[in-house]
Amino acid sequence: MNKKVFVFSESSGNACEMLTGAKTLGDNCSVILVGNESDAAELIAHGAQKVFLFEKEKDIMLEAYADDISKVVAEEKPALFMVGMTNRGRTIAAMVAQAIQAPCVSECKSITTDAEGRYVLGRKIYSGMASTSEVCTSGTLVVTLPMRTYEAETADTSLTGEIIRKKRESECKVKLVEVRAKAGDSVDVSAADTVVLFGRGVAKQEDMPMIEELTAALGGVTACTRPIAVDYKWMPISRYIGLSGKSVKPKLYLDIGSSGQIQQIAGAQDAKIIVAINNNPSEPVFNVCDYAVAGDLYEAVPILTKLIKALH
Ligand SMILES: Cc1cc2nc3c(=O)[nH]c(=O)nc-3n(C[C@H](O)[C@H](O)[C@H](O)COP(=O)(O)OP(=O)(O)OC[C@H]3O[C@@H](n4cnc5c(N)ncnc54)[C@H](O)[C@@H]3O)c2cc1C
Repeated sequence: MNKKVFVFSESSGNACEMLTGAKTLGDNCSVILVGNESDAAELIAHGAQKVFLFEKEKDIMLEAYADDISKVVAEEKPALFMVGMTNRGRTIAAMVAQAIQAPCVSECKSITTDAEGRYVLGRKIYSGMASTSEVCTSGTLVVTLPMRTYEAETADTSLTGEIIRKKRESECKVKLVEVRAKAGDSVDVSAADTVVLFGRGVAKQEDMPMIEELTAALGGVTACTRPIAVDYKWMPISRYIGLSGKSVKPKLYLDIGSSGQIQQIAGAQDAKIIVAINNNPSEPVFNVCDYAVAGDLYEAVPILTKLIKALH
């Protein structure tokens, strides 16, 4: 294969996940890291042969490293540069692609190779109703991948690799003035392994504790449909799932009293297991779920909560 694959993420955990994929796509995997020595060691234990380490400087925004990251990519000429799709990662991917005049393909769900060894990028379009396959023929290809596209392998501390220390040379054009804790909701639904979503089938705000109790029994986080957050304002905007809301990829997605319209389920279609509770079996949610309870949520949820608590 003899292909160089480079990985970058602002989260070293996410870079470890991407190394799992990188190892199947090339035989020479490196990571560009803005972090510290211990992050670099972790990446080597996950299979990075080289880590280009920019020591993270206090109060310097990640974007300030983009020119230097571009220089590494331009010099090393990997066939593929995989970037974790965090807010800052998206920016870095675009800045690097522009600097090295490479194509940038966003939000890839899968990367494979064809018979000629070219990368084939799988993406979802039309709210996830259709898939596309794109082949890129240029030199270095920059792609962004959602978090958890791959699962990190167990670290192997017997693996060896090289840490190449780099210095930021480019000028920092953005000055960090102040860091303030984000007001409001601190829960990140997109990082949860278990998501319990509810919709307008929950008739009153006073009934929400019934859902929260089930979420707590499952050790998950509660999410909602857009009308619950935007129209009723029962939950923060950051908790609604879907096309215009958050995307999630949990192991378990419990969908309670929501119709499962494509705009909503688009944000959860990568969940491993989808369980629906709805009293109208003709709703679209029944076409996408793995398991379903066709019945009244006011009967089903307390029974489910009791059964799950009994397992503890
Ligand atoms: C451009 C665009 C973008 C959008 N983006 C999003 C998005 O990101 N996220 C999103 O959520 N929506 C989005 N929407 C809105 C989306 O199309 C749906 O209107 C919305 O998701 C419906 O919310 P719901 O399922 O809570 O309500 P409803 O569609 O009213 O569904 C309520 C469900 O509860 C069931 N039910 C009622 N009572 C009970 C009971 N006692 N027991 C069990 N089941 C019961 C009903 O059978 C019904 O299926 C978008 C729409 C547009 C046009």
